Amino acid sequence: MKKFRLTTFIFLIAFSMGSIAGQAKGAQISYKVTFPEAQAHYADIEMKISGLNQKATNLKMPVWTPGSYLIREFAKSIEGFSASYKGDALSAVKINKNTWHIGTAGVSELTVKYRVYAFEISVRTSVIDASHGFLSTSGIFLYPEGMLNQPSTINIVPYKNWDKVSTSLEQVGNDQFTVKAPNYDILFDSPIEVGNQDVFGFDVAGVKYEVCMYGGGNYDKERLKTDLTKIIEQQTAVFGENPNKRYVFIVHNYQRGGGGLEHLSSTVLGASRDAYGTERGYEGFLGLASHEHFHLWNVKRLRPIALGPFDYETENYTTNLWIAEGFTAYYQDNIVRRTNLYSVDNYLDDVVGNFNMLDNQPGAKIQSASESSFDAWIKFYRPNENSANTTISYYNKGAVIGTLLDLEIINDSDGKYSLDDVMKYMYTEYYKNRKRGYTDAEFKLGLEKFAGKKLDDFYKKYINDVDQVDYDKFLGYAGYKLNNELANSNTPSLGISSSNISGKIIVSAVARNSAAWVDGINVNDEIAAIDGTPVTDPTAILNGKNVGDKINVTVNRDGKQLVLPVTLLKSTRVKYKIEAIADANAKQLEVRKRWLRQ
Ligand SMILES: [Zn+2]
Repeated sequence: MKKFRLTTFIFLIAFSMGSIAGQAKGAQISYKVTFPEAQAHYADIEMKISGLNQKATNLKMPVWTPGSYLIREFAKSIEGFSASYKGDALSAVKINKNTWHIGTAGVSELTVKYRVYAFEISVRTSVIDASHGFLSTSGIFLYPEGMLNQPSTINIVPYKNWDKVSTSLEQVGNDQFTVKAPNYDILFDSPIEVGNQDVFGFDVAGVKYEVCMYGGGNYDKERLKTDLTKIIEQQTAVFGENPNKRYVFIVHNYQRGGGGLEHLSSTVLGASRDAYGTERGYEGFLGLASHEHFHLWNVKRLRPIALGPFDYETENYTTNLWIAEGFTAYYQDNIVRRTNLYSVDNYLDDVVGNFNMLDNQPGAKIQSASESSFDAWIKFYRPNENSANTTISYYNKGAVIGTLLDLEIINDSDGKYSLDDVMKYMYTEYYKNRKRGYTDAEFKLGLEKFAGKKLDDFYKKYINDVDQVDYDKFLGYAGYKLNNELANSNTPSLGISSSNISGKIIVSAVARNSAAWVDGINVNDEIAAIDGTPVTDPTAILNGKNVGDKINVTVNRDGKQLVLPVTLLKSTRVKYKIEAIADANAKQLEVRKRWLRQ
């Protein structure tokens, strides 16, 4: 029965696709977006397709948004779907989770209406309320199957007193509320902000930049213009050109906001509205802006071959997110360092922060950089209480790999080349000349071209396997070494992370091979007492204890109390610091200068 149904379903899809093929070219597509109930988080969409000549038309909603590697099922937020021709209803059947099958025999145009509920606050999902509408387009606009290359126009009717639209989509005529997309890849890569945002602009080497601030904040526009200009100039110098004519920073300022999502000619940033006034908060914002803007080259244009043209209906697998995200994470700080907005010490703190994060993650011994990339869809984006034990972040490991390779290439080429040369070469060769993404082997060849040697051993150890990184080898090229400040400490550790819930210590994670792991403390246990003494402060529960001590841990688990004998083990945490080698030679000092871009 199951098999039969599946066969029927596949036939239906195949038939529909055959019917659609060859009919797409003459179709004209337009959308009208209104917000009659913005306060209740709805957008109402009216989609018109004219020039149709096909028996049936399938309309689809993407299941994910590029840059965020998780199936999000945007069709779950659609309601009130109807299809008509000149006011007469057409048959419309939903045939799978994200497809509506509409009978269009004998009709040349089609009007579809639907509503989208949008109230998930993030940079990759749409949010609508009385104060603004943020349209993350891949979750708003249905597309006709077989017509991804068709252009469309979008007319936005603002809610009440909303008076502005900010998007990288091109305006049609003099009406800022009507924009057009040359195809769906561009439409789905161009978020739209509509409301009363604060907009300011600046030019960098002929490219028009627009910053649109939603939510207010203590930002200093002139300072931002100056500092973003410096970052943009340094990034453009890496690749040799800026392919955009216009670029839009859409910034959502919340009480506590964060995150960013890259697009071809824009980005969406989450920020904390009061953070601009503190040094740390401001640096954090610049680092985020630097990261997302760097993506306009790395991943949006210079990209792994699997990441474009996109399949909007399923996972798009790549083993290269350590390049697409990790190298971007490496450059986000290295670029800000080049602007002199950071001191060298600040920069080295960022670098060593990545080393510490990697070596304090038990999953670093389990999951490689390429595996982490491939499984982003089911692991990195779907973490659970055991994730730290079994996974790494491709941002983190990729940034470490970027550091190592930059140092390796600078050293091997006697300062003639750096990772910049690889990025520029790969951008020119694959995005511009071959007009496609790179394969794993092609990126490796690009690195080897500038390192002047094979990187098989490097790839085996650090990209495809989980070898301990030999930090001192690479830092040594630049006359630095690593010092683990905890190397000689003999601190006992239980190996748990915990949250304080209503004054109770509740275990939220157990580190692999720790005392808690070995002796059976579980996630969700309440740590009630140590050796019979009630405890409430998780930072003080091992006061006076030593490595090797046997303690009795009283836990409350699922309504029962247990006493678990636990033998305390030595903490394996590292706390690295990068230190200069006192007698660094001339070559090391030259590599250092080149690495820090001094
Ligand atoms: Zn990124």
